[in-house]
Amino acid sequence: MTPIINDIEEMRRLGESVRRKGQAICLVPTMGALHDGHLSLVDIARGKADFVVVSIFVNPTQFGPGEDFEKYPRTLEEDARKLESHGVSVIFSPAASMMYPAGYATYVSVEGLTSGLCGRSRPTHFRGVTTVVTKFFTIVRPDYAVFGRKDAQQLAVIRRMNRDLNLGVDIIAAPIVREKDGLAMSSRNRYLNADERAQAPVIHRSLLDARARVENGESNARTIAASVRSNIGTSPLAAIDYIEIVDPEEMTPVSNVSKGALLAVAVRFGNTRLIDNIMLGSDTL
Ligand code: AMP
Repeated sequence: MTPIINDIEEMRRLGESVRRKGQAICLVPTMGALHDGHLSLVDIARGKADFVVVSIFVNPTQFGPGEDFEKYPRTLEEDARKLESHGVSVIFSPAASMMYPAGYATYVSVEGLTSGLCGRSRPTHFRGVTTVVTKFFTIVRPDYAVFGRKDAQQLAVIRRMNRDLNLGVDIIAAPIVREKDGLAMSSRNRYLNADERAQAPVIHRSLLDARARVENGESNARTIAASVRSNIGTSPLAAIDYIEIVDPEEMTPVSNVSKGALLAVAVRFGNTRLIDNIMLGSDTL
């Protein structure tokens, strides 16, 4: 069984002893309820470092009021079993009361690129993410940390924070892992009922259609976004939160995609909000 550390000081001491031995540390931050997307990040981490730490922490500060913090799936034992065959050195799973004890008052926030896209409907979300990731970086002091492109805005925000605060962690971006029908894997997919699950692949199909339009010469962002809107609109259960075509580093809208742009969407099916994205006019993010 992969060892689980709950105590912050124990994790810090273990990290120090690993570093003293000259081994590199790679951190994979997660909220648990692990799926093959998470496991692909772990495999990338294994390729980078001898010592892999997977954090499993449902971080209260990144959930807004009325969001799914209470009902977010917590499946630590099952997660530990899934990680068993993936060469993870340790799972770090602190209690929320240890990460945020009474009197906790310090937050890290990245300005600008957190205000659009997911930041519009989740105004305190990224502040929670950057705060907890800073704390994990400080406790574990990893050489590398792996983040999925599934959360493209989060990846851009973490990269900016790492640069701005000179944290010195090598941030590795991992490709999006999908179900066979194209739906991006997510711990929240388990909230979908059968009808919603059947319709959810419309998201990825609409992204692929947009990419095909760009490959056929379309470069006007407004035209592309309108086509995505009408494609997703064919699914009666889908409610669009946003469809944005942005610069992949700044998260600011672009009007023309020919130099490479990120098409990012958030769509609700019932109470479940799903996000996905694709690069247009370029392969990398
Ligand atoms: P979460 O547990 O949802 O906070 O995700 C933890 C990490 O896994 C984040 O870096 C996510 O971007 C990444 N991740 C989640 N789902 C996927 C996926 N389908 N493909 C690739 N990475 C993912």
